[in-house]
Amino acid sequence: MKEIKGIILSIKDYREYDTLMQIMSEEGIYSVVGKGHRRMKSKQAPLCQLFAYVSCICHAKNEYATIYTLRSVQMLTYYRKIREDLCKQAIALFFLEAVLQLKEGELFEHLKYALDLLEDSTKPYAAAALFAAQLTHLQGIDPYVDGCVKCGSKQVSGISVEHGGFVCRECMRAQEAVLTVEELRKFRLLQKADYTHYALLESHGDWNLQDLERQLAFLTRYGFLQFNSVELLEKIAALD
Ligand SMILES: [Zn+2]
Repeated sequence: MKEIKGIILSIKDYREYDTLMQIMSEEGIYSVVGKGHRRMKSKQAPLCQLFAYVSCICHAKNEYATIYTLRSVQMLTYYRKIREDLCKQAIALFFLEAVLQLKEGELFEHLKYALDLLEDSTKPYAAAALFAAQLTHLQGIDPYVDGCVKCGSKQVSGISVEHGGFVCRECMRAQEAVLTVEELRKFRLLQKADYTHYALLESHGDWNLQDLERQLAFLTRYGFLQFNSVELLEKIAALD
């Protein structure tokens, strides 16, 4: 028997009545079969939901098996407030999408932290953008935000994904947008902050999808990540 305490990253149909889940714990990602989880009367299935933090008792056929079978499950954190909010839910799916692509064990702590912040957040995009900024650090692809990345000037006007950070008006390329002081400040704050600074971030003005997308531009360009969940976020933002 093995206890896996982790967050459910994905749930797929498996065999006739089962599911196959990926659960991330501090030790890494485990594949766990939910026996009979696709049957209506399954008592375990309602506890096994995406991004739920659960404690699972599992067993493996033998010591070489890579797939475990779920014996019992206990809900640790359900994240009710995320589930009741369409935007927060889409952001949680974005977290999972990122973690599934990176698959690093150390991401568990980040994921847990980000979900906890998102649950009680009044500005969900701040939590989303901070998580993305943290990923740029983990990937070693943080944008340069202490002046123009090309010439060092402190008078910056925009962000260049191509050059890897802030740029001044002279070094900007035609296709790069001039951003407001507020937009640049938020971008820099995200890069300088960690999760313990979250309350400060939240109090710092409004946060929106663009704040997230500016961070994601670096993760897609240099981290080679893809974010299909952003499409959903764009649709939700268009509804507002
Ligand atoms: Zn410059």
